[in-house]
Amino acid sequence: MDADVTIIGMGPAGLQAAIHSSRKKAKTLVLGKMENSAIYPTELENYLGYRGGSGKELLASGAEQARSFGASLLQEDVISVEKAEGGFILRLESGKEVKSKALVFAPGISRKKLNIPGEKEFFGKGVSYCATCDCNFYKEKPVAIIGEASEAASSAELMTHYASKVYWVAKELKANQNMVDMALGAGANLVQSQPKTVRGDQKVTGLELEDGTVLEVNGVFIELGSRSSADLAMDVGVLPDPEGHLKVDEECGTGVEGVFACGDITGKPWQLARAVGQGAVAGLNAASYARSG
Ligand SMILES: Cc1cc2nc3c(=O)[nH]c(=O)nc-3n(C[C@H](O)[C@H](O)[C@H](O)COP(=O)(O)OP(=O)(O)OC[C@H]3O[C@@H](n4cnc5c(N)ncnc54)[C@H](O)[C@@H]3O)c2cc1C
Repeated sequence: MDADVTIIGMGPAGLQAAIHSSRKKAKTLVLGKMENSAIYPTELENYLGYRGGSGKELLASGAEQARSFGASLLQEDVISVEKAEGGFILRLESGKEVKSKALVFAPGISRKKLNIPGEKEFFGKGVSYCATCDCNFYKEKPVAIIGEASEAASSAELMTHYASKVYWVAKELKANQNMVDMALGAGANLVQSQPKTVRGDQKVTGLELEDGTVLEVNGVFIELGSRSSADLAMDVGVLPDPEGHLKVDEECGTGVEGVFACGDITGKPWQLARAVGQGAVAGLNAASYARSG
């Protein structure tokens, strides 16, 4: 699959970017899951002209609008991105590949928490939300990956290349089958249970499960969402700031040629109006970049 502009994220920022990019006649592809947008379950109070409207309806209507201008929408998460000749190659959870001249990062912010005892206390001392960032700290150590979706599968697979043992804790499997096969084929051990407590002293020593079993691990990776924007951005050389935001200039450029970003991922305030405004800027500039190349 080829595109001029590929947008990672099907929230308001990504959809607005798609509208502006496709109207500039760039071949535009939007990836992501609309129901994972922060605005999806909400009722809006402070968005211009839309008081009391639902986030879900706003997104559905925005998606239709983007399609009407020629954008293609694919409800799939991106697992990895890399630079390639003439642009970028994205790998999707189904195993599909997309080649794109320009990229727009609009994945929102999603460091979902488990909210179990020990999670907060041991954050940075064995608890991590980013396998790609922290994998190297767990060489030859046992780890647990927690999560049911493709992101967790991808992290479990990654960690088999570093850790001495990888437990993948998932009560139900919601990951794409292709990703599940990859993780289990690489040697991750699936544990179909619910995590209860992260145990430790100065650092993590174990993960207690709902039935009282304790997995003896030194690392607990909490991977409850899609692959985080920060990880994906790093794949193409965009370094997030310490809070995980991608800094952009006034054109929504990231400093890496052909890579733009918009919405919550670029910083606060995390608000719809800002996301949509930046989406327009990023979409226009990504389309110009792709069409001039
Ligand atoms: C409870 C709540 C209430 C809110 N109420 C308001 C309000 O009243 N007014 C207001 O202005 N703002 C409100 N907000 C904030 C608003 O929702 C956000 O500012 C806005 O949704 C940001 O848009 P975005 O497109 O940047 O990110 P999001 O809307 O979060 O969309 C992110 C998209 O990226 C996708 N994605 C993530 N990772 C990947 C990946 N690896 N591959 C592919 N796709 C990926 C997701 O699936 C999703 O489609 C609220 C937020 C919350 C949580």
